[in-house]
Amino acid sequence: MADAAENLHAQLYLAGDALRIESDGSPRLIGTSCKACATRFFPPEPVCPECMSEDVAEAELSSGGTLYSWSVVHVAPKNWRAPYIAGYVDLADGVRVFAHIVDADPDSLAMDMPVALTTAVLGEDEGVAVTSYAFTPAPAKTTG
Ligand SMILES: [Zn+2]
Repeated sequence: MADAAENLHAQLYLAGDALRIESDGSPRLIGTSCKACATRFFPPEPVCPECMSEDVAEAELSSGGTLYSWSVVHVAPKNWRAPYIAGYVDLADGVRVFAHIVDADPDSLAMDMPVALTTAVLGEDEGVAVTSYAFTPAPAKTTG
């Protein structure tokens, strides 16, 4: 369990590097793009997981996507708010992101439903609110 707690903190720090708040207050996920094979991935890494190239660059990722899968978690790590919804989101640019799904009734979720990037307080650390990226159901886009 100690390892899990350490990993949890590592991910929170990682989210800090991978989450940028734009001047208008909107969140933006920062991933990595491989210059050798064009793979994009998240969270950011110094080496491409597909081709092992170190020729990678920071990449701003799409803030919208679709819900791939999810689960309601009733037993949370210490200091996390429970129950919560954890899920995988497929971003519009092809990157799959594991994140909390917030402001959603679990019974209203559906495969491939549109979701949008947001931020949410996921827990607390010694009384300090821990905010990270999350996704929330979004109205379907009516592009024409
Ligand atoms: Zn690559």
